[in-house]
Amino acid sequence: MARIVKKFGGTSVGDLSRIRNVAARVKRTVDAGHQVAVVVSAMAGTTDQLVSFCRDASPMHDAREYDAVVSAGEQITAGLLAIILQEMGVSARSWLGWQIPIRTDGVHGAAKIDAIEVASLEERLQDGQVAVVAGFQGLGDDNRITTLGRGGSDTTAVALAAALKADRCDIYTDVDGVYTTDPRIVPRARKLEKVTYEEMLEMASLGAKVLHTRSVALAMRHGVRLQVLSSFDDVPGTLVVGEDEIVEQELVTGIAYSKNDAKLTVFGVTDKPGISAAIFGPLAEGHINVDMIVQNIGKDGKTTDVTFTVPSTELKHTLKILEDLKDRVDYDGIVADNNVVKLSVVGVGMRSHVGIARKMFEALADKGINIQVISTSEIKISVLVDAAYTELAVRALHTAYGLDEPAQ
Ligand code: ADP
Ligand code: ASP
Ligand code: MG
Repeated sequence: MARIVKKFGGTSVGDLSRIRNVAARVKRTVDAGHQVAVVVSAMAGTTDQLVSFCRDASPMHDAREYDAVVSAGEQITAGLLAIILQEMGVSARSWLGWQIPIRTDGVHGAAKIDAIEVASLEERLQDGQVAVVAGFQGLGDDNRITTLGRGGSDTTAVALAAALKADRCDIYTDVDGVYTTDPRIVPRARKLEKVTYEEMLEMASLGAKVLHTRSVALAMRHGVRLQVLSSFDDVPGTLVVGEDEIVEQELVTGIAYSKNDAKLTVFGVTDKPGISAAIFGPLAEGHINVDMIVQNIGKDGKTTDVTFTVPSTELKHTLKILEDLKDRVDYDGIVADNNVVKLSVVGVGMRSHVGIARKMFEALADKGINIQVISTSEIKISVLVDAAYTELAVRALHTAYGLDEPAQ
């Protein structure tokens, strides 16, 4: 007998017949004698609609009320799945974040889970009852509902698996595993049998939305056995594992892309010591997460240009901070560009091999794609290019690293 946490995403619970399909899967696991906790997302499209209701109601809406609204989708799915399980003769009960409770910090819209009090859930599981848990939501330190950031139900599932000391955490979604890149952009992407926590963490944070980044970080920290599977087909999925479990390591495991960044260039900045601190200090104080940075030596030796990226959602806020700096930092102007995509190649094999960056630059040059900014870390290389080239660039890189599925 095992204790298993299963999570079903938005498409998998998109209508009543799909919720019935989920219930049938849960029933099979219960009938096999296992204890099951299920985490559900809102039905596909629901959270988007709730977010736009808040925006339309008021662009300056209160973050606590935003959470009260956008957490509602998961409540509906949890209740419906419990009803359908009961109808199938399976003992089941729905649980909202505050009822367990799933305790989080008070950062509304992007809360972090601090602790999950699982005592009563555990009792019910031991009695053979299925716990149907609403994903994405928790109870903040201000005693109000919080949400974990878009895509956060994966994180609910992994955190619950860690707290319940579950044997496995299975993430059921609309693709049948983690691929070398988004299979919706590259039809010849290959399914990975296994991927390391570290690579998955990079891929998720660099745009592969198949898993929420924090869910991977939590799984890595707590050693949760994590698996990504299809909720529609019974085929083996992808296991997220420690590096020691990978026998043959590819040089590059995957390619990710993200259109969520904006590029800013502050040009004609007086080139003197302290200038970077003068620009990036106030951005850090404004909680702006600066990602890629390039600074060059100016031709005249007196001025320089500083280019960097921030989340697109923070572009307006960043421009405001930079404009307020005008009396302290001497610069000629600012150019902002939202039409960029960050492309990244990821692989632990990079630690021990050279020439991987060169291959990336050559593959993009072959397609006439200009690289605007580059950044690297131990197991990834990222470049910023014009967003119009996203598909072309991802496909070119996928082929260049030999990742294409052989033609049938
Ligand atoms: P869910 O609603 O089940 O949480 P998501 O839409 O959040 O599902 O995540 C699944 C999607 O992630 C897939 O439909 C796919 O388009 C996208 N995706 C991006 N990169 C990858 C990748 N490397 N492997 C698999 N899917 C990916
Ligand atoms: N329903 C939430 C969202 O759409 C959480 C999730 O699906 O993981 O972002
Ligand atoms: Mg998701």
